[in-house]
Amino acid sequence: MQILDGKLLSEQIKAELAIEVDQLKLEGKKVPHLVAVLVGDNPASEVYVSNKIRSCEQTGFRSTLIRRNADISQVALLQIVHDLNNDPEIDGFIVQLPLPKHINEEKITLAIDPKKDVDGFHPVNFGRMAQGLPAFLPATPYGILEILRRNNIETAGKHCVVVGRSNIVGTPISILLSRKGFDCTVTLTHSRTKDLAGEVRRADIIVAAIGIPNFIKGDWVKEGAVVIDVGINRIVDTTKKSGFKLVGDVDFDAVAPKCSYITPVPGGVGAMTVTALLMNTMKANQKEIYS
Ligand code: NAD
Repeated sequence: MQILDGKLLSEQIKAELAIEVDQLKLEGKKVPHLVAVLVGDNPASEVYVSNKIRSCEQTGFRSTLIRRNADISQVALLQIVHDLNNDPEIDGFIVQLPLPKHINEEKITLAIDPKKDVDGFHPVNFGRMAQGLPAFLPATPYGILEILRRNNIETAGKHCVVVGRSNIVGTPISILLSRKGFDCTVTLTHSRTKDLAGEVRRADIIVAAIGIPNFIKGDWVKEGAVVIDVGINRIVDTTKKSGFKLVGDVDFDAVAPKCSYITPVPGGVGAMTVTALLMNTMKANQKEIYS
């Protein structure tokens, strides 16, 4: 069994991006500029956004954090999105989700110019991705593809079972793995799937994106399977100073001995998600997706 070290891979990719940034500077060109809009004081969002800003600093990207109180009106937030869409100094931006209840997340996502939608959540990018056209890919699936690709994991003709059908993970990764280049045969499973354990047992590659700690059991996994654990769940751990620890959606101790490869939690897919956002921002800077 081999651990797929997302943290190490993300450091390698960030080092590659930093070299590209140095080259842009040498050529007197504009470095990538990412803006994050953070509304309210959700502790998880604070952590995610500060990771994004820190990663920008590590790679030499410009970053700007726009912070607003939770009581900002939808109109005022839409105005910020509009201004960012029209600011030529900004390559890409994200509006960190979740937003306060009085704001319609769909309206905000739809207002973002697809050319600057480095989160890849806009339906234009999603549709382009589904048709195999150049698109900003959603960061978590993009990170998973890089983990598979850069570890030379064979995907062509393999049976991949994705568990979970969210718009940001399960559905896009099932589309991406089935497309040319990855060529998996994909089964997308969810909470209404009958005999989920039986489906997972047939998988050569398992992608678990459910949000339930240790959900995928040892006896659900075929010998030699590749296991990608997307879940990030906090569970109580009184031995830790913080009082909790992070675990994935896969029962790691039971599953790991049976796998050929497995991503750990933390240090697997999560570590690659921010780096994928940076890769998208570099693509926006280079006008690789939209000219
Ligand atoms: P979600 O809640 O939007 O979707 C969960 C999916 O799991 C749903 O499609 C649902 O049908 C399925 N599901 C729920 N219960 C099930 C059951 N009993 N059997 C089969 N399927 C079931 O979640 P999400 O946003 O896709 O996130 C999933 C997990 O991944 C969470 O732990 C989240 O924290 C984590 N996550 C990690 C990253 C990262 O960067 N690593 C990014 C996004 C989400």
